[in-house]
Amino acid sequence: AIEVRDLHKYFGENEVLKGIDFTVEQGQVVCVIGPSGSGKSTLLRCVNRLEEPTSGVVLIEGEDITDPEVDLNKVRSRIGMVFQSFNLFPHMTVLENLCIAQKRAKKRSKAEAEQVARANLEKVGLSDKVDAYPAHLSGGQQQRVAIARALSMDPDMMLFDEPTSALDPELVGDVLDVMRRLAGEGMTMMVVTHEMGFAREVGDKLVFMDGGVIVEEGVPREVLTNPQHVRTQQFLSKVL
Ligand code: ATP
Ligand code: MG
Repeated sequence: AIEVRDLHKYFGENEVLKGIDFTVEQGQVVCVIGPSGSGKSTLLRCVNRLEEPTSGVVLIEGEDITDPEVDLNKVRSRIGMVFQSFNLFPHMTVLENLCIAQKRAKKRSKAEAEQVARANLEKVGLSDKVDAYPAHLSGGQQQRVAIARALSMDPDMMLFDEPTSALDPELVGDVLDVMRRLAGEGMTMMVVTHEMGFAREVGDKLVFMDGGVIVEEGVPREVLTNPQHVRTQQFLSKVL
């Protein structure tokens, strides 16, 4: 589980997260929505300490990862992250992209890393692209490679920050299908997304953030059809 308690984050004088509390239980999918600048990415990045929280606690399976003593590489290898921009290494093939972190951080042999990589490429439907370079793939294929790369580290949970926002509309579905399957397999997931259909069908919980606070959260269908707060209503009236 991911537990966040009274999380605050300042950038200089600017308080971007103003006391965030929530839990993602094992196997749950929590979707996060909210206007630009509301702190969604910062929150996600605090969960694996790509950003340092100013105060508050983040517990991953009960372990406080805000503790300065914690082994950050170990923390991050348990938490896969997928970004809006796919961040693949352009000079490496798909297979090499999937193997490098496994070899470095997991100390896997080449053969072992390749076996894991191939299994995960099959999972995202890209077995035929092992030897391709990222530039020769569509955005949707690159994002699926990025997901396969994250999965190759055997994470306990996955964080997605607007994974489909940079994609042409016709490529969004393939990526969401992969994520839906992953959720079905019981992966614990936090997903920042504008895909309300995905949030409704796949999400166990929907969190609406605005101005660095969680304004409202609940069962996705209920939040989407019957938002309780004016700010949620205003946001949804613009995006739905
Ligand atoms: P979007 O929907 O546009 O991705 P978001 O909800 O993800 O927005 P964040 O990226 O978390 O929002 O940003 C929240 C606030 O924090 C914004 O005001 C942003 O300018 C500020 N911010 C984010 N990263 C930094 C940084 N590294 N340094 C200073 N300010 C930052
Ligand atoms: Mg963001």
